[in-house]
Amino acid sequence: MRICRFDEDRVGVVRGALVHDVTDALELLPPLRWPVPPGDHFFNHLDRLRPRMEALADSVPGRPVSGVRLLSPVANPGKIIAAPVNYERHLAESRADRGINMGTEVRSIHHYGLFLKAGSSLIGPSQPVIVHWPDRRIDHEVELALVIGRKGFRIPEEAALDHVAGYCIGLDMTVRGTEDRSFRKSLDSFTVLGPWLVTADELGDPGNLAIDLVVDGAPRQSASTRDLVLNCAQLIAYASQAYTLWPGDVIMTGTPEGVGPVRPGNVMEARIDRIGSMRVAVAG
Ligand code: MN
Repeated sequence: MRICRFDEDRVGVVRGALVHDVTDALELLPPLRWPVPPGDHFFNHLDRLRPRMEALADSVPGRPVSGVRLLSPVANPGKIIAAPVNYERHLAESRADRGINMGTEVRSIHHYGLFLKAGSSLIGPSQPVIVHWPDRRIDHEVELALVIGRKGFRIPEEAALDHVAGYCIGLDMTVRGTEDRSFRKSLDSFTVLGPWLVTADELGDPGNLAIDLVVDGAPRQSASTRDLVLNCAQLIAYASQAYTLWPGDVIMTGTPEGVGPVRPGNVMEARIDRIGSMRVAVAG
């Protein structure tokens, strides 16, 4: 199943080029009171919602998905976890490019561990990435993003993919500089998820997906998820050594080589096998 959030927080099921509005399925969600429980409310109850969403998608007519405003498929992630230098060729380019390494030694993911991006940085593809600091180099990083569907702590690698609700295309926008990653990568609009979530049962093995990004039609990044240093299962196992993973938590799996700067007026088009593609504008 392909699930999107669109327009004024409508929930959609995408089939082919059409989106079916299944927002009425949200009536199955239990009411919330403060303080809200951990996890994203939608993903906490997705198993309960899915049959109703399927039935509604069968019964309501679709409209072209190209005509709706796509929002992040996850509305309220408890945390956005991200992997630094998780492709060998991106590690190599980071070591070679002073504009990326800022004169510091770039080490392996095993040295850095993982980092967190602010939830307030999250947008969907219909919203522009804003170049808040135009005097600084701001790079695109296209990444496979996975969304947790089942709570877990110290998850064994063999069981890790059972904890995935689905997959999206992610953009981990980055200000180059010497500041901590959590600062440089958490500006408003610096995390993009879209165009929809492809559920884990539909996507299958995430270990050999072509991933690419073009800017204004010019190829920038082109790779395969088989070249990840830590693959999806290993990232889930690693992250859950540190913290409980809750439904709706996002893991950005890291960017391959080819990162580069964007400016206001650019349009990024990101694509991943078996998910689709999304166009994201860059604005000043
Ligand atoms: Mn990244």
